[in-house]
Amino acid sequence: MKIITDIEQMQKYSIDKKRKNKVIGFVPTMGALHDGHFSLVKASLKKCDITIVSIYINPAQFGPNEDLANYPRTLEEDKKALIKLGVDVLFLPSDEIMYPSDYKTWVIVEKLTEKLCGKSRPVHFKGVTTVVTKLFNIVQCDYAFFGQKDYQQSVVIKQMVKDLNLPVNIIVCPIIREADGLAMSSRNKYLDNELRKQALVLNQALIEAQKLIKNGEKDSKNLIYAMEKILKTSKNAKIDYIEIIDPVTLDTLNSINNDCVIALAVYIGNTRLIDNCIIKIN
Ligand code: AMP
Repeated sequence: MKIITDIEQMQKYSIDKKRKNKVIGFVPTMGALHDGHFSLVKASLKKCDITIVSIYINPAQFGPNEDLANYPRTLEEDKKALIKLGVDVLFLPSDEIMYPSDYKTWVIVEKLTEKLCGKSRPVHFKGVTTVVTKLFNIVQCDYAFFGQKDYQQSVVIKQMVKDLNLPVNIIVCPIIREADGLAMSSRNKYLDNELRKQALVLNQALIEAQKLIKNGEKDSKNLIYAMEKILKTSKNAKIDYIEIIDPVTLDTLNSINNDCVIALAVYIGNTRLIDNCIIKIN
């Protein structure tokens, strides 16, 4: 596996591969890799000739009181796992080359980023869309792989690619869960044994909602109430939001008549976790 830390070198590598008609797949990550990330890598390896993974903890997507300083960093383990999977290139840029001191340009997707996670993380998506645009320009990928785990992010990125006519196909891969149902996340590393157990309520709430919908419940209020009840069984849970939304516009739905997404964000202790499920009606 080639490790590239330089932007020009990364661009040259990709231009050279494209000249040779190779299809390039890209998986952007912040590291502390787990099976969720690896599922994206495997999807890229399957679809593309060349797979590039980036590990970059993007400071621009963290708010001032968020966990940038503590975000888990496991670079040596990550490298070993990516070599084992057969990744072609690991791109490891530094803050200095991504955001030099005279940096001035930002990419903003309106409306979609003001909902859900955007309410409690007002600078987050501006950081995400900016870094992803930069990474696409550097890596010059044909396909980029994102997880459904960050559902809103996937919708925002698709909108950005469409609006800015970026020549990249976005592939969204399913949520990978631990055996007990907890959605895999680098932030799960923050949870001690007790909080790790309590964190199961997120998936349990989603399962309950899916069960109720199967049994005919259509009213979002009733579904949200039933989910709240489950989340409140965890004594260290604090709900940020539970929303039932349109899969494309992310608008809140009062009742379930068409396909929708149930999305939630919940603090377990100090750790903010997100999860979601897609409900297919049609
Ligand atoms: P992150 O390193 O947290 O920025 O995540 C990098 C990519 O991995 C994003 O596209 C995430 O949506 C995706 N991802 C994170 N956790 C999971 C998971 N449990 N299942 C599938 N994809 C995931």
